[in-house]
Amino acid sequence: MFNLDNLVRADLKSLKPYKPNVVSPGVIKLDANENPFDLPAEIKKAIEENISPTIFSRYPDPLALNMLGEIADYLGASADCIMPGNGSDELILDLMLCFGMNRTVLVSAPTFSMYQIHGQIAKANCLEVNRKEDFSPDIDELIKKANDHKASLVVLCSPNNPTGTYTPLDELEKLLKSVTSLVLIDEAYIEFGGESCLKFLDKYPNLIILRTFSKAFGLAGLRVGYLLAQDKIIEELLKIKQPFNINNYSQLAICTALQYRDLIFKQVEKIKANRDNLLKQLSSLKGVTTYPTEANFILFKTDKFANRIFGHLLAKGILIRNVSGPLLENCLRVTVGTEEENNLFLENLEEILKQG
Ligand SMILES: *Cc1c(COP(=O)(O)O)cnc(C)c1O
Repeated sequence: MFNLDNLVRADLKSLKPYKPNVVSPGVIKLDANENPFDLPAEIKKAIEENISPTIFSRYPDPLALNMLGEIADYLGASADCIMPGNGSDELILDLMLCFGMNRTVLVSAPTFSMYQIHGQIAKANCLEVNRKEDFSPDIDELIKKANDHKASLVVLCSPNNPTGTYTPLDELEKLLKSVTSLVLIDEAYIEFGGESCLKFLDKYPNLIILRTFSKAFGLAGLRVGYLLAQDKIIEELLKIKQPFNINNYSQLAICTALQYRDLIFKQVEKIKANRDNLLKQLSSLKGVTTYPTEANFILFKTDKFANRIFGHLLAKGILIRNVSGPLLENCLRVTVGTEEENNLFLENLEEILKQG
């Protein structure tokens, strides 16, 4: 008799399908760290004008060479050191499949949940090393554990999601130098603050940098991320890569957005100014503790139950993220929106806190 239960992987029984928030029309969306501004009209027009007659009918360039060339130009890096992914999420899975399976992977926590999820899918033994009270990573403990467990990969997000914490380069360099593991630095938010470890790429053969077009570039809908590493690592990862993972439209749109990147970096400047304002005002609210941030979101703690704050805000049409959990008791994360969105969030939060 066919019985699906006999066939499913026992080690994945506890895994839950990713369930995004259902967003009703009109809801102010401050939950996913997206860019609140629309892609500039000039860029949209340039994309439309360059759509080729075969964009829908032909397979895309599997290596996305034009796009890699544009990324290389943007970063001043070599295209041989870049691998594109269908979102950086796909690259996290590729890394776990390539280097994490049946090995120990260390994750500096609390952080982005996809490292654990993709690690579990790829049968990696993921261990967390807690960040310190100020959410800075415990570099000494990461080094010790990496060496004790002969970890194949150490994962550190900087600026870190959801805490906003940026790790200075001398700390990262200490980690890179002191382990025999690969070290993945997730720089999904680097355009908003902190210094990139791009300049370590030539020096450290164990460094892997992860980037995305979903956050600062405002292109989350296209699903494009990339990683940077020395060419030997890229060669290994290319064995795992889905051949046609970046579709034609995305390749064209990313190339165009990079050519017009000045327009996008104007938005980034605006978001950073909005962030600094929002942080200042949020910190002044009674019953709220904020944490320093270099990203386009703010982590804050309230003296009320986080799920109640979350629910009350949603009832007012404002969606943020409840990130409560170990080391993040009653913590919430709000994405920096437009000035108008940030003000509505602040007004409503203040009212909810007053009501008790
Ligand atoms: C949003 C996010 C990503 C995923 O980005 P995609 O490229 O959209 O898959 C990766 N890492 C961190 C830390 C993120 O917050």
